[in-house]
Amino acid sequence: MVGRIVPAALVVSEPGGQREFRNQRDPQGYHLEPRGGRLWIRRDGEELDTCSRLKGREYQKFAAVKNEDDLLNFVKVYGPLTPLGNDLSENGGDPAESLVDEARWMNEILSAFGRSPPYLSNQQLERLALNSGRAARSLVWHSDSGVAVWQSNVSYLLAALWEQLANAVTCGVLLRLCEYCREWFEIGTRGGKRRDARFCSDDHRIAFKNNARKQARNNHTHEQGA
Ligand SMILES: [Zn+2]
Repeated sequence: MVGRIVPAALVVSEPGGQREFRNQRDPQGYHLEPRGGRLWIRRDGEELDTCSRLKGREYQKFAAVKNEDDLLNFVKVYGPLTPLGNDLSENGGDPAESLVDEARWMNEILSAFGRSPPYLSNQQLERLALNSGRAARSLVWHSDSGVAVWQSNVSYLLAALWEQLANAVTCGVLLRLCEYCREWFEIGTRGGKRRDARFCSDDHRIAFKNNARKQARNNHTHEQGA
């Protein structure tokens, strides 16, 4: 049998590499809370659930975070991003402003990468390189399936998201911004969308068309009323 390297595949594992990384989330939810002149995301309850496995494109959702409220919604779904995110002590919680800033960096890197030809500034490349240093990466051979994939060991979600982004950018995966939801999606890959796709999903293509039709009808009514 011929083994192969899967260039774009990445497995994000827990330290030691034995198990895939899975975040933990408070089922009661999270809230924003001021402390020491800054905003923090804190847990509401005292229990923890294990989140589902990462699918590989969560960084695209994170890059769409624009403000503290978006970040809170992200954490409610995917769990907190930093090692102290679920910590109940007085120093616990996720620092909201600096995480919104991380999301902005990711979005800028994706925008630069989405240009043709892709052009990342020195500052963006430096940021990417520094952040992928949060994980230890190795090429792991899976004898059952006969493939070698990149495996990154991380212990918190933010590290996993930077790994996903670094992998997408260095493996030549092409990305485009959905014209409806303004989130990034992969094009031209197996399991991704066609190279000329304008929307991340059929639902969003239809929703965009419906909106455009509604808009046209409204304009028409205004004109008639005028
Ligand atoms: Zn969309």
